[in-house]
Amino acid sequence: MENSALINILSSPKRIVIVCHKNPDGDAMGSSLGLYHYLTLKGHHAMVITPNEYPDFLDWLPGNETVKNAKDIPQFAKDRIAEAEIIFCLDFNTLSRIDQLATPVEQSAAYKVLIDHHQQPQQFDFMWHRVEASSTCQLVFEFIEMLGDKALVNKDIASCLYTGIMTDTGSFRFPSTVAKVHRIIADLIDAGAENSVIHRNVFSAYTESRLKLLGYCISERLTVIPEKATAYISLSKDELKKFGFVPGDTEGIVNYPLDIKGIKLSAIFIEREDGVKISFRSVGQFSVNQFSRAHFGGGGHDNAAGGQSTLSLQQTVEKFVTLLDSYAQDIINS
Ligand code: 5GP
Ligand code: MN
Repeated sequence: MENSALINILSSPKRIVIVCHKNPDGDAMGSSLGLYHYLTLKGHHAMVITPNEYPDFLDWLPGNETVKNAKDIPQFAKDRIAEAEIIFCLDFNTLSRIDQLATPVEQSAAYKVLIDHHQQPQQFDFMWHRVEASSTCQLVFEFIEMLGDKALVNKDIASCLYTGIMTDTGSFRFPSTVAKVHRIIADLIDAGAENSVIHRNVFSAYTESRLKLLGYCISERLTVIPEKATAYISLSKDELKKFGFVPGDTEGIVNYPLDIKGIKLSAIFIEREDGVKISFRSVGQFSVNQFSRAHFGGGGHDNAAGGQSTLSLQQTVEKFVTLLDSYAQDIINS
């Protein structure tokens, strides 16, 4: 669809719902709230609805108090989605990523817009999608630019968008951090994003128990398989309970094994009520998106993907270790 069609739709105030993927991360919340501030500024009636709760280290984001968690108020969420004129779907590629909101969004007569950077997206009425983009926050910035409104990017919008670019690029170090990303970041700082404050808000907001859980994962739960360039961590429900787990506490732990020289694939297996949640990270050519799609019902990006398993924690880890036999060469050569 032509950009002009969307520009036309947005030319008068609309009832708009913004949804992001379940277990929202910095990019999901930053892009949703960044877009929310922009649309509100333009006179639209906008609202961010999340499928479930998100970590405390994101609750300082401007506009946080306006976000509706559909798990708390399911009927309200369904009603807003049903009566929306436009639904923006942010930071996910298929409706299955929004759990219980998938059916209401599918059934809503609203005009549906996707803004996302994950591979293999499903079809939406309007797609602002680029796999090479560092983050959905980058795409929201470019979307606002396309609409001719770059000058409207204020401190609130800039702070939100900075956050997601920062978290999705691993603080500007992943290969997706091309020069253009730094130029956008410079624009966001010019617009009022306090980069140093944002870093501390997101990365230096650990509770004591979260820091101890991280230490425990590394000292007690890390298995390294040097000959397969792989390392992984697994955590049981009981272990999480012992450390007073709250959502967000395990965020980022999966990155640490990649700090070992020679390790190119990392995984974390987390036992939950409804199965095992898995995160994969890789460096180089080995695509964890493909690996997770093929074996763990998940997906994501080439170097960062998630998945799940209904096997026990131990069986899930065993399945992973067995699979490594056939992938070892690809991982090592990655
Ligand atoms: P994480 O490991 O941090 O949960 O997710 C890493 C990346 O993979 C994120 O971009 C996330 O949106 C995506 N992802 C996580 N879990 C899944 C999943 O089950 N399916 C798909 N398609 N993507 C996922
Ligand atoms: Mn993202």
